[in-house]
Amino acid sequence: MNRLFSDIPTTVFEVMSVLARETGAVNLGQGFPDDPGPEDVRRKAAEAVVSGWNQYPPMMGLPELRSAIAAHYAHWQGLDLDPEREVMVTSGATEALAGALMAILEPGDEVVLFQPMYDAYLPLVQRAGGVAKFVTLKPPHWHFDEADLAAAFSARTKAVLFNNPLNPAGIVYGREQLELLARFCVKHDAIAICDEVWEHVVFDGLSHISMLSLPGMRERTVKIGSAGKIFSLTGWKVGLVAAAPDLIRVLAKAHQFLTFTTPPNLQAAVAYGLAKDDSYFTGLRSGLQRSRDRFTAGLHGLGLAVLPSAGTYFLNIDIAPLGESDDVAFCRRMVQSHGVAAIPVSAFYAVDPVTTVVRFCFAKRDATLDAALGRLAALAGAEAL
Ligand code: PMP
Ligand code: GLN
Repeated sequence: MNRLFSDIPTTVFEVMSVLARETGAVNLGQGFPDDPGPEDVRRKAAEAVVSGWNQYPPMMGLPELRSAIAAHYAHWQGLDLDPEREVMVTSGATEALAGALMAILEPGDEVVLFQPMYDAYLPLVQRAGGVAKFVTLKPPHWHFDEADLAAAFSARTKAVLFNNPLNPAGIVYGREQLELLARFCVKHDAIAICDEVWEHVVFDGLSHISMLSLPGMRERTVKIGSAGKIFSLTGWKVGLVAAAPDLIRVLAKAHQFLTFTTPPNLQAAVAYGLAKDDSYFTGLRSGLQRSRDRFTAGLHGLGLAVLPSAGTYFLNIDIAPLGESDDVAFCRRMVQSHGVAAIPVSAFYAVDPVTTVVRFCFAKRDATLDAALGRLAALAGAEAL
């Protein structure tokens, strides 16, 4: 068997969700909302199954969805995309990431990764023959500077894989950091694979800036989105890819042999959903921001050290003030003895991990968050003893 996959453990998200089910814990680990998602979008998907076309849709995606993606990004992010030459639909952002890496990398090419990173990145880079070069981000600010990039980029850099807003840190990088990264991409003639799945989940009046809109990046950026995050339907796995024609042409070759296409009813429903009024998208943000604030206040009330979150479904706590230095052991104890599942952030590092940060998903109903806080009160009390 292939050594890479036979040697890696099951993803931490699955491990923690299984533990949560077995122990009856409140699951604030794996990132999925309690919210069932907008009913009109779900009805569209149901209608499309019952009355629509259920055979293979076009490989690049339903034309109405590709047009809706271009219109949506024009409206929300000021992008000018040609739906026929610059947009593709995949089966989730995960397929888009895997396909982009397969399409772009040659064996031995270097890829700059920012850790903490979504756990799929490194195995996908390595399986595609890439050699990872890391920029290490640390709490509380998770920033990178020119020296960090200079140490990671080289003459062999083919691509950079960049996630903004950043899961698990909950940070939203602004124009200054994006411009710095763009300068390095241009200087090293590197392609930026930009995982922007959390683009609509930003708080405090922030707006998402796509790397595609930065000077010098239009021809060298692969922008990846996920309908699962935009509509709180994480199981749907509909990925939205935008890139210049020369890039998308090759990305499509990888896509054609990975999944070829994506369920047509979900595509029809996503096309409908992307055209919804602004109020849906601003409501998504304000609802999640409210949950973030409620959970943050509750954690503060327990005396826990909360790191700020400006986007994503996630916030983190620093467990060092509790005298803890092992986030994995802490999370195991928390789920087994206190009935709350979370994710140890060290799982998002490949080397030199930060081991004192724990991630919670706050995209939950008040009752779920309050139940978790009730259980964590016992933990905070026990730690104080
Ligand atoms: N990238 C990041 C940063 C994510 O957080 C996630 C899922 N939470 C994905 C990719 C995967 O998206 P999808 O479910 O559309 O494959
Ligand atoms: N992206 C989700 C998270 O960060 C999990 C996705 C998965 O389970 N693979 O929690």
